[in-house]
Amino acid sequence: MRNIKRIPAIDGQLGWYETVPFQRPMPVQNAEKDEHFDVIVAGSGFSGLATAGRLAELQPDAKIALVDALEIGQGTAGRNAGFIIDLPHNLDADEPNPEHDAKIRDLNCFAIERLKRIQEQQGMNVRWHAAGKYLAAHEEKHFSNLTAFTTTLDAMGEKYAVLEGSDLAKKLGTPYYKRAVYTPGNILMNPAALAITVASALPKNVTLLENTPIRSVDLESKTLQTDKAKLTADTLVLATNAFTEEFGGCRNKLAPVFTYASMTRPLTSSEMAQFDGVEPWGLTSAHPAGTTVRLTSDNRLFIRNTLDFLPELSSTEALIGKAREKHRRSYLARFPQLKDVPFEFSWGGMLCMTMNHESVFKQHAPGVYVVAAMNGVGVAKGTYLGNYMAEYISGVKSAELEFILSNSNPSWVPPDPLRSVGARIRLSFEERLAKGEV
Ligand SMILES: Cc1cc2nc3c(=O)[nH]c(=O)nc-3n(C[C@H](O)[C@H](O)[C@H](O)COP(=O)(O)OP(=O)(O)OC[C@H]3O[C@@H](n4cnc5c(N)ncnc54)[C@H](O)[C@@H]3O)c2cc1C
Repeated sequence: MRNIKRIPAIDGQLGWYETVPFQRPMPVQNAEKDEHFDVIVAGSGFSGLATAGRLAELQPDAKIALVDALEIGQGTAGRNAGFIIDLPHNLDADEPNPEHDAKIRDLNCFAIERLKRIQEQQGMNVRWHAAGKYLAAHEEKHFSNLTAFTTTLDAMGEKYAVLEGSDLAKKLGTPYYKRAVYTPGNILMNPAALAITVASALPKNVTLLENTPIRSVDLESKTLQTDKAKLTADTLVLATNAFTEEFGGCRNKLAPVFTYASMTRPLTSSEMAQFDGVEPWGLTSAHPAGTTVRLTSDNRLFIRNTLDFLPELSSTEALIGKAREKHRRSYLARFPQLKDVPFEFSWGGMLCMTMNHESVFKQHAPGVYVVAAMNGVGVAKGTYLGNYMAEYISGVKSAELEFILSNSNPSWVPPDPLRSVGARIRLSFEERLAKGEV
């Protein structure tokens, strides 16, 4: 058995999880006794949820387990910024490839449709809002990134609007940004609420085992040792994101990057005065190391920034506190009139990156499959990759699956300590470049 040293932890106060606007409909169950399953999916983020859900649809008689160290909505899936992005995120006008980008868009839209249908069927309020998204720049030197984006959008035939100055300020309720590209297809939501909703819709042949850290693993016999039970399976799927290396599911491919978020309490009606006529919105930065901002539909302001490389795969109170101070500076720069509104929650989570932004999607060994490395866009990507992982395992062939298989070759990352040193230098360089966008 291979010991798993780094186990997921709760990093801070999980704002979305704490503000889920409904009672969780299903009881929390953990692994109490030794048990055999046809399939075990390890990891219940959007990848694991989609893998288990689609497998259960394709194989209604299979006995399936979905196992997680935390509760649904407490992992990275429930800690993110709550964007379900329809367009490819790494649009690069230097190497335009509209055909490839259109395929990614179609897969993202497939994921959005699937999640939309589930949340409508379940009738749970995940604060789903077809709000679109702003890609915005504060400094003129980053306008070129906006132009690169619109060049690619033109090549794909996508709709967008460029907003500037007071027109943009009217949409956002802050004059901080000078120019933005608005695209209409993005969804905003509470990601912890959405993850719980997706879990609540899992067919009856899926057993959900939460608060069940996997302490050791044997990939050959497909055996997982948890605190109280030994779980075995005919087929094992690792949907464990940055923790996949711990399981021996891939080597020298992943670059897990810690990032942090803070969210205010709901603004009062007088504090909302500056947002008179402003719809809830979500904005990502024209620079990849810049700040993500949201005005949520429950009138909170959300800030995400800070990139750090933590090989231990969990953060500390001190680091979360440091990130919170940085969030405060970003917040005050954008909303100086609301300087007295405190953050209610601050937390951290991991972006599981690869050097070439391709995900891990593979059969690793007989009966062992891996789906990992969502490169910062895991709500949509995790949902469609999980769906097609289930089809891959079940022998369902499609052009989409072929496309995914031929675009899942992450490039090599050097082992530690080189990986950590290189990543830290690169991240701090990028943050310096981002400057006013942070
Ligand atoms: C602050 C922040 C903002 C982000 N914003 C966005 C956004 O707006 N939109 C977007 O699409 N993406 C965003 N992301 C990225 C997104 O959250 C991830 O891409 C997504 O969660 C990946 O999904 P996943 O299912 O592959 O992995 P995860 O969600 O990480 O799920 C993996 C699961 O495996 C479990 N696990 C690992 N090891 C073990 C073990 N030993 N035993 C048991 N269970 C284990 C973990 O507990 C975890 O729940 C953001 C991320 C962060 C941190």
